[in-house]
Amino acid sequence: MDIRIIYSDDAASMTEKLISSYGLEGKIGRKDSRIILKPNFVVPSPADNGATTHIEIITTLIGYLQEHGFENITVAEGAWVGASTSDAFSKTGIYDICRKYGVRILDLKKDSYRKVSYDGIPMEISETILNADYLINLPVLKGHCQTQMTCCMKNLKGCLSDRSKRAFHQMGLSKPIAALNAIVKPDLNIVDSICGDLDFEEGGNPVRTDRMYLGENAVLTDAFGASLMGFRPEDIEYIPIAASYGIGSMNIEDINLIELNKPSASSAKPHGAVARLASYTAPDMACSACYASLIHALKRMDDNGSIRKLKGMKIACGQGYRGKSPDIGTGICCKDARISVKGCPPSAADILRTLEEL
Ligand code: SF4
Repeated sequence: MDIRIIYSDDAASMTEKLISSYGLEGKIGRKDSRIILKPNFVVPSPADNGATTHIEIITTLIGYLQEHGFENITVAEGAWVGASTSDAFSKTGIYDICRKYGVRILDLKKDSYRKVSYDGIPMEISETILNADYLINLPVLKGHCQTQMTCCMKNLKGCLSDRSKRAFHQMGLSKPIAALNAIVKPDLNIVDSICGDLDFEEGGNPVRTDRMYLGENAVLTDAFGASLMGFRPEDIEYIPIAASYGIGSMNIEDINLIELNKPSASSAKPHGAVARLASYTAPDMACSACYASLIHALKRMDDNGSIRKLKGMKIACGQGYRGKSPDIGTGICCKDARISVKGCPPSAADILRTLEEL
């Protein structure tokens, strides 16, 4: 199954290239199809804080869809329990965009719900979401304090009533998330992996990654996202449960990865919790995606305590190492290092495996 990936810091241009290369207009069907765009506006916070979807992605999608004659478009989201969706809409600027393009915007906390159940998990899901003809999921790839990672599958939790959101937490999140995805299956997932948070769904420690990717199946697209963050798909509990429901494959070997371009060097400086992990690195003209893979691998080692063995080490990363021989480095630019990790960019999972073996 195809996953298309692109690297840049320009959300609008990446979105345009991804959906054009995918041929989105030919996939939707009737011009009067009810198209729902489901971003992640879990909290009222700007996208560069690492929690929410960049609105340039939504703006580009709306413009593209309208250009191709699709007019029945709704932007729909429900913030987490305790936060106001309308505050999130205001803070992100999406109200103004929807007004400008004449697009409906819906707070899913105010929608009517249908009671459904799957594998013993009862839930109340938005009628608008269930009645969509074409659902485009627009999650952010980021860390999560309970499920470790959140992306396509977990983003659909915003389609539930607040009562069901609370119940999902009481039931331990993973099985309910998989059950929800057995009922709501996005037609397309366009992942904002531009600066998702290191470990919290509400943001605060964004990791500059400068990439987006697109996949049709939420389970496989999440399995891919897990590998980008240094996890094995089976580490994210809801992925194997969903795979066992037959919703999708979790085998990243099944992915046909289509790279629309290659990353380029970034000058972004890490801060907060990311800066602490960055003390184990020595970047020199590193591309964001490459450096983020290294940071995520270090985060996994920080979580399991094995980072101690890296004390005093500086892991090389970046185009400035071409033709040089550092002791240890990541990516093809460091291929002459004594210990190197293949890839351009390498995945966090591959970097982690190498560091763990040291
Ligand atoms: S290997 Fe080099 S060129 Fe490739 S992503 Fe990493 S730093 Fe960039």
